Amino acid sequence: IKLTSTKLGLLNPEVQIPTYDRRQVNPHTVHIGVGSFHRAHQALYLDELLALPDTERWGECGLGVLPSDARMRDALQGQNHLYTLAERSADKQSARVIGSIVDYIYAPEANEAAVEKMANPETRIVSLTITEGGYFIDEGTGNFLVQHPSIQHDLEHSDAPSSSIGLIAEALDRRRTRGVAPFTVMSCDNLQGNGHVISKVLRAYAGLRKPSLETWIEANVAFPNSMVDRITPATTRADIAWLATRFGIDDAWPVVTEPFLQWVIEDTFSNGRPQWERVGAQFTTDVASYEIMKMRLLNGSHLAMAYLGALAGFTYVQDIMADQLFVTFIERFMEEVTPVVPIIPNTSVPEYKKSLIERFSNPTINDQVTRICSEGSAKIPKWLLPSIQELLDRNLSVDLLSLVVASWIFYLGKGVDEAGKTLDIIDARAAELTAIASSAEEDPSLMLGISSIFGDRLFTNAIFQEKTAGALHLLATVGVAASMKQYLKRN
Ligand code: NAD
Repeated sequence: IKLTSTKLGLLNPEVQIPTYDRRQVNPHTVHIGVGSFHRAHQALYLDELLALPDTERWGECGLGVLPSDARMRDALQGQNHLYTLAERSADKQSARVIGSIVDYIYAPEANEAAVEKMANPETRIVSLTITEGGYFIDEGTGNFLVQHPSIQHDLEHSDAPSSSIGLIAEALDRRRTRGVAPFTVMSCDNLQGNGHVISKVLRAYAGLRKPSLETWIEANVAFPNSMVDRITPATTRADIAWLATRFGIDDAWPVVTEPFLQWVIEDTFSNGRPQWERVGAQFTTDVASYEIMKMRLLNGSHLAMAYLGALAGFTYVQDIMADQLFVTFIERFMEEVTPVVPIIPNTSVPEYKKSLIERFSNPTINDQVTRICSEGSAKIPKWLLPSIQELLDRNLSVDLLSLVVASWIFYLGKGVDEAGKTLDIIDARAAELTAIASSAEEDPSLMLGISSIFGDRLFTNAIFQEKTAGALHLLATVGVAASMKQYLKRN
């Protein structure tokens, strides 16, 4: 059955459908970057909240700013902005139609409508999941990339901007001049201190436009930090076919995700917010500790399995986790990292680690190894190197972590897996890094000396240099499995 609002009643009764009147839903949130993750996470929280009695009818309007978002606009518009969210694990498969997105604007063809939607007093939150690239931040320095062509374009055409930053700034400026209270700007991207990042970028941009706007933003706009978690791979044709066969739904672009989800938010909003705590979100003043726990254990483990797994020829995360050597390696990796994982009240680190092993092992998620390997030059400095530095500062072991760093360098330098198959290396710095990494086996200092990745302290740390060089040499001589075994035996 083709998914549309008039056909909801005809769907397989196993499929959960919106029980609320979608005509009453107000899109108080405008969300930029309606991709897989947003539709598996924040849109679901709103859908659950809308289904409860006595709640504000708080829904959202999607906003796409890239040309490639035309596909999402077409998919959603063809089905009254409804879509199916499927949860899969070894013992459970469920499907639910999400109704919280009630409108969608495709900015490349309607940027005035996009700005006016956000400038409208009905809009109370503008949220984002636009990937790291959407923030125009230099990975090395953390500075705003003023010279970026999109930013230069928007500064020259500030009343008809095309980037997320330009659009948000223009909408805030119109609210300011019209005497309308600002919306909250809420980043839900996987960036440490995501609220701080978007605040810094937006204020820097506003300052270049007009200092009075920057001052107004600083005084009035809230930028809550948040930690978001739910492993959600890109939807495949096989997922679409599976949904049709298993639940009888013909959906142009469903989302398939894992059962686990978590959202930890700082409670600072400039213009009200939905009562997300009623549907499982956690409010705290200490988002940073949750972020560090997640980045060091979840994202760190992803890196620990990614490059070794790619070199060993694996395609999916679940296949890596079906190999006991890798499971033991990941468990021991997490043990090595644990001394630098913060203690959080009411959170058990052993339980968290156990749940990660289960989540990674979910045999139905088909999370691709190429996805977790991608953009290593941005991920390694955030998810691995801070753990190494802190462990070294405390004279603790970094053996397994060094092997992981070495595996990334080896993967970049080799370009093929152990069976000789070409690796699909996705990284904004791929050309530069693969060239440097190809000679790293003889002399890793050139690679480890890249200060925009490794910083200055690790470059001058003899233990880290020696351990990484040793691990590289071992990988080159005995291969992935034998290297991992040697490390596990030694530690
Ligand atoms: P996706 O590819 O499905 O969607 C990405 C969305 O971001 C698209 O709408 C795209 O148009 C938009 N986008 C990309 N670059 C942009 C730019 N420069 N400017 C404006 N919009 C841009 O990806 P996804 O799975 O939805 O992941 C998006 C982000 O969500 C991730 O980068 C991460 O920060 C966060 N996240 C994802 C997961 C996950 O498992 N997928 C988990 C936690 C957090």
